Amino acid sequence: MIQRTPARIEARDASHPPDVRVEPGNTPDWQQILSQSVTTPEQLLERLGLAPEDWFRGAACGHRLFPIRVPEPYLARIEQGNPDDPLLRQVLPVAQEAEIHPDFVSDPLEEASAIQTTGLIRKYTSRALLMITGQCAINCRYCFRRHFPYGDHRLGPEDRRQVIDSLSASPEINEVIFSGGDPLAVNDRLLSQWAELLGDIPHLRRLRIHSRLPVVIPQRVCDSLIDWLSRTRLQKVLVVHVNHPAEIDQATRQAFRRLSEAGVTLLNQSVILKGVNDSSATLSALSETLFEAGVMPYYLHAFDPVSGARHFSVSDTDAIRIVNEMLENLPGFLVPKLVRELPGRASKTPLDLGS
Ligand SMILES: *Cc1c(COP(=O)(O)O)cnc(C)c1O
Ligand code: SF4
Repeated sequence: MIQRTPARIEARDASHPPDVRVEPGNTPDWQQILSQSVTTPEQLLERLGLAPEDWFRGAACGHRLFPIRVPEPYLARIEQGNPDDPLLRQVLPVAQEAEIHPDFVSDPLEEASAIQTTGLIRKYTSRALLMITGQCAINCRYCFRRHFPYGDHRLGPEDRRQVIDSLSASPEINEVIFSGGDPLAVNDRLLSQWAELLGDIPHLRRLRIHSRLPVVIPQRVCDSLIDWLSRTRLQKVLVVHVNHPAEIDQATRQAFRRLSEAGVTLLNQSVILKGVNDSSATLSALSETLFEAGVMPYYLHAFDPVSGARHFSVSDTDAIRIVNEMLENLPGFLVPKLVRELPGRASKTPLDLGS
């Protein structure tokens, strides 16, 4: 049986004001939208009609550990005055973030040691990760990179030459992944220069981008992005990051459509999060909504024990039960792979779904 989208999500989509159009020639400036993001507990609570006396202390406390950042197009999808809104939970700091627990650590994937000074990470056999920037368009409370010193990684011209030399000398690498932070937080002039240099390396086949920006600020899918994506000879894959079907509105669908039309294969990764998407009904609705928007579900990440995010923790037993329910509800191609990244492994590790 196919699960229907919960009624609340449909109602919310209908009740919203018309979305900002993402059209050629009439592109709002995504950088301006980004720079006008909500970045304080006061602004966030006021904007969403939440009583400061209930939420301010927790929000201020979490904000000191990992600053609030939420752009307006994402805020517009959050229901006013509802502290349990699944999108709000992803961005509102709470007092539990300050809790210390021995099993929840600051770098659960032990990534800090794998980064080279140039921003190139070579932990997979056929693909190389390029940390384009440490900046993100939104600060997700559960992020396993919330404690990461990414701000230090800014690639200069000398780093770029080193990266290109290293990739040119590595014929086993056929795919480069723009990672971060959020690589699309960087301007298109710089990204198109990278794409051009990479396109000149004959053994590279694919360019992959891991970004939450087309979801968080759909206006990011502007003419200049489409322009350099259309020009590269490399095959393009964009892995977006959506955790709940209410994150996809009309403007997001239009952004996805423009990307598809430019020849970009769209995949999604989600994290299983308590109070956000820890049910097979929500995750099945997410898969259906993604597919309607031209995006294939790819990974569902089992929860990583990152300190400050224990309140989002879903046990492996629950995650496995939920994915098994999804297998009953959905065609196989709409069930994401439930995986975990383990330190030192050359790929993601699938969780055993049992028999
Ligand atoms: C897992 C991972 C990859 C590699 O992804 P595959 O789809 O397994 O090839 C790249 N970047 C990041 C940040 C990852 O976590
Ligand atoms: S956009 Fe991705 S990397 Fe950035 S805070 Fe959110 S989950 Fe973390």
